Amino acid sequence: RKLKVGLIYGGKSGEHEVSLQTALAVIKAFDLSKYDIVPFYITKQGEWRTGPQLTAPAENAAQLQFDTAAPQGSTLPIPSLFRDSSPAVGGGAAAPSVDVVFPLLHGTFGEDGTIQGLFEMTNIPYVGAGVLASAVGMDKVMMKKVFAQEQLPQVVFRHFTRKQWEKDRPFFLMEIEVSVGYPCFVKPANLGSSVGISKARNRDEFIEAVEYAFRYDRKVIVEENVEAREIEVSVLGNDEPRASVPGEIVPSSEFYDYKAKYVDGKSAMIIPAEISEELSLKLQEMALRAYQAIDGSGLTRVDFFVRKSDQQIFINEVNTMPGFTPFSMYPLLWKETGVSYQQLLDTLIDLAVQRHAEKQ
Ligand code: ATP
Ligand code: MG
Ligand code: MG
Ligand code: MG
Repeated sequence: RKLKVGLIYGGKSGEHEVSLQTALAVIKAFDLSKYDIVPFYITKQGEWRTGPQLTAPAENAAQLQFDTAAPQGSTLPIPSLFRDSSPAVGGGAAAPSVDVVFPLLHGTFGEDGTIQGLFEMTNIPYVGAGVLASAVGMDKVMMKKVFAQEQLPQVVFRHFTRKQWEKDRPFFLMEIEVSVGYPCFVKPANLGSSVGISKARNRDEFIEAVEYAFRYDRKVIVEENVEAREIEVSVLGNDEPRASVPGEIVPSSEFYDYKAKYVDGKSAMIIPAEISEELSLKLQEMALRAYQAIDGSGLTRVDFFVRKSDQQIFINEVNTMPGFTPFSMYPLLWKETGVSYQQLLDTLIDLAVQRHAEKQ
């Protein structure tokens, strides 16, 4: 019997379009003699739609979107989505059951543990990190506290909520200027794709950067700037994870901002990174420690800074649902390590099923 894989993509986050491109690539790479693919499209408004089982790779993103006007699309109440028994509401088509779900979503409501909680409650196997690892990996403050506990080296940082900032602004200004200094990085605590992040060079820029970050989150983190190379490692597995060869990002802007990531296409990926064997092993070892520190499962990309002046390593962050098109760092690092995109999909599905079975 073929395994029925529910692919979940689109979503409410700013990464909706990226997710559609990933879905196209994943559908194309899945071996359709082994898997049946059932699409679940989440609109930008957060409405869930499902269409007919995909029997051939889709040609373009439009085919995956199940527009309201499209007769094949139907809207369903979320918890009954994955079950056969539920009669469809409004649309008429019965909800297809699935054996495993694969969320191709980044950022809030996709990578932060919320949708993972839904999968847990419906008792369905799912690809990737669980509730806890997703939530810890998404909140940069919590993530840093967990890394600190594991003695993983990090840059100096401070954090505060909007309320604290409003109440005690002079205190935080002094605190930042004494302990972090300028330039510094100001980030919303929970986000991705560099959205809401700025580099501040002085007090005026800092205040502006804080206000900007608060547009995206009620909690902000401020980090010491480090002049560094950016090296990333892919991790794959559950309780016995493996680390890929490291790769280097060379951003096209002053830092790896949203534009350098997705818009101008000029940032370079150097795979494998041109670093010593010793540094490479050290990064792989730290990547696995970070993975275990957040209690990861399935996959994660671990991002590091290697300071230019003295080669000192700092862990920057983890991404429990990293970019996953065939041209993204995560799959490319595995390709270089000897795992093809198709093998990667097979492995992730196996890991999801295994983890679920072990929980029962
Ligand atoms: P992702 O898309 O990988 O999830 P993100 O939104 O979580 O990204 P970060 O990785 O924390 O954001 O930061 C984005 C980029 O900003 C980094 O890749 C790096 O170029 C730059 N950057 C972030 N923090 C620092 C720092 N402390 N010092 C120097 N550069 C930094
Ligand atoms: Mg991130
Ligand atoms: Mg991210
Ligand atoms: Mg990052």
